[in-house]
Amino acid sequence: MKRTTLALTVAAFALTTSCFAVTAKICIDPGHGGSDPGAGGFGQSEATNVLNTSLKFKTWLDKDTNDAGGGGSWSVVMTRSTDVYVSLQGRCDVANNAGANRFMCIHNNAFNTTANGTETFCSPTAGTTTQDLRNKVQDRMIQAWGRANRGVKTAAYYVLEHTAMNAELAELAFVDNAGDSVYTGSATHQDTAAKYHLYAIQNHFGLTAYTPVVAQTYVVDNTSSGFSASTNWTLSTSEPGYYGTNYRARATGSVSDAAQWTATIATGGNYTMSAWWTSNANRAAAAPYILPDGTTVAKNQQTSGGVWNTLASKSLSSGANSIKLSCWTTAGYYVIADAVKFVGPN
Ligand SMILES: [Zn+2]
Repeated sequence: MKRTTLALTVAAFALTTSCFAVTAKICIDPGHGGSDPGAGGFGQSEATNVLNTSLKFKTWLDKDTNDAGGGGSWSVVMTRSTDVYVSLQGRCDVANNAGANRFMCIHNNAFNTTANGTETFCSPTAGTTTQDLRNKVQDRMIQAWGRANRGVKTAAYYVLEHTAMNAELAELAFVDNAGDSVYTGSATHQDTAAKYHLYAIQNHFGLTAYTPVVAQTYVVDNTSSGFSASTNWTLSTSEPGYYGTNYRARATGSVSDAAQWTATIATGGNYTMSAWWTSNANRAAAAPYILPDGTTVAKNQQTSGGVWNTLASKSLSSGANSIKLSCWTTAGYYVIADAVKFVGPN
């Protein structure tokens, strides 16, 4: 009776949220840990594999939440985030006390070294919403790793029976099987499994699978291949606080002769651009940085040396984007071309 009530509540929740931005609390349960290493094989420990996979899953959920694009908004609870022992009831308590909406348990399998493939479980008494969660995890894991499809199954596992929300348990692959172990222990494949768990939970809540955009940092130093300047810009190390191994300096005057930093940006979007210089009283008080959109930002290089100074936040297209530093400003000073940074999309 209790389980029926819960299933109805959760079904209503899913219906309510399917036409709006989803906000759900996901409890991730990395199996084993601490004094219980789980299964082993090929130098791997199941407890370590599934913790790393689970932490990557949390990272993808957080990225999806922080990304203004598609996907959902998730709060994440972990039954463990380090290599510690947590009892089976302890895992259920974490999920139940947090009021999680879904419980997603990650394991590696092991048997006789020849058994292999991916299988995902829910309780034998689970309703259709829980079965949907299980089925979508299984489907996405088959896409992620392409291991043998052992199908969706039911089992009265402790955590599936004692959690008060829709719960599934994925046996990603067999850690003691030669072919499967290539996947279970690989950081790259763990990340793929984590990303496809994100797709599964997105699909489960009626959302189109969406890969959140990850902010990137592009630094172009005056020694980088993306930098160019005329020989009038002389190399210097005389003022400390430079980025990398040196900087370039040029006398100001009535000519542009701009130094240029170019970054090749993978994904278009809003980027924060910053510049680094070494400061001294002989620097330009209004050093003219020319941004990729052609606008100019004047920065006082007499102060704030040795740190990143924000120039502006702008929408940039993917591909080559350049920041220039002109020397055309009040004569009798120096402009300093050291490094620039692009961070985004954000
Ligand atoms: Zn296990």
